[in-house]
Amino acid sequence: MSFNALIVEKDDDGKTHASVKQITTDDLPEAEVLVAVEYSTVNYKDGLCIGPGAGLVRNYPHVPGIDFAGTVEESSDPRYKPGDKVVLTGWRVGEAHWGGYAQKARVRADWLVPLPEGLTTRQAMAVGTAGFTAMLAVMALEDHGLKPGHGPVLVTGAAGGVGSVATAILAHLGHEVAAVTGRAEQADYLKGLGASQIVPRSDLNEVTRKPLESETWAGCVDAVAGAMLGRVLKQMKYGTSVAAVGLAGGAAIEGALITPFILRGVNLLGIDSVMQPYDNRLRAWQRIARDLPMDKLDSMIQPATLADLPRLGADILKGQVRGRVVVDVNA
Ligand code: NDP
Repeated sequence: MSFNALIVEKDDDGKTHASVKQITTDDLPEAEVLVAVEYSTVNYKDGLCIGPGAGLVRNYPHVPGIDFAGTVEESSDPRYKPGDKVVLTGWRVGEAHWGGYAQKARVRADWLVPLPEGLTTRQAMAVGTAGFTAMLAVMALEDHGLKPGHGPVLVTGAAGGVGSVATAILAHLGHEVAAVTGRAEQADYLKGLGASQIVPRSDLNEVTRKPLESETWAGCVDAVAGAMLGRVLKQMKYGTSVAAVGLAGGAAIEGALITPFILRGVNLLGIDSVMQPYDNRLRAWQRIARDLPMDKLDSMIQPATLADLPRLGADILKGQVRGRVVVDVNA
């Protein structure tokens, strides 16, 4: 039986082309678990894999989609049986291994987690890799001492996927959230997610020569890096932490960098969602089911189909997507 998949091909000139095609399970890579995919999402990395590849995609033709949720159809691994609901993020699925932009996916049992109680497959993918990473970032800040009442917690790239979910989780946990956005028109959306303060991107994206600035932020989830992270580090309160998840604003951190670390004991915590061990993944998904208000999640969702993906992949690379795109692969 054939089914739909978004196939990315590369021509002799090195240009990539993405289109929805019919494939069969014989085309899928070998692995223990065949999943009937229900939903996938659009993350920044998906934009790269649908488009230029950026060194992430090793072999063409390729099926992108770095996350998915669905129902197990076949399994040679005793941990999963047909009918089980599962979620996948990370492990280079959608990059080195065919991913979730298809009605079926075959993956390693080790890469899956059972769908946490209280979440539907659609909600799990409204969270997706971006939201899962936001939860990991919040957990890392908590592990380093952040508690409600310590002061405002900054979220950069706030109207994007990681930023939207981080804003909603932190606000729900009782933190005062300062949301940084370059899109003034998204202020009401971010306030709806629980942000108490909107910080224009232009306030933070200039490099200054000052070694330190006023102690302002009790914590930060940073999806942007670049000049903004250089500024933010200098504004952190003594002994606080920045959880750095992404580089939507550039790979280099700029500014007088060493001072916040040695004069204010600031911690820079790197967050990687790709290679998280099973227990951490399970713990983060259980926290998501508990600490992310589902009405807030609903307000982040933009529905999409496989056919929409080439356009949305380009949009996310331009920073033009708001919240989370949820792809119904069967629509
Ligand atoms: P999105 O595109 O949804 O969000 C990024 C947001 O950053 C944009 O919406 C925009 O927010 C802001 N932004 C974009 N360009 C710039 C710029 N030049 N300067 C300042 N701000 C900018 O992406 P995601 O939220 O899905 O991912 C964010 C980053 O996190 C990416 O780099 C991604 O690769 C990374 N990531 C890392 C993971 C990990 O495991 N470490 C997992 C998931 C994502 P606004 O308009 O509000 O300013």
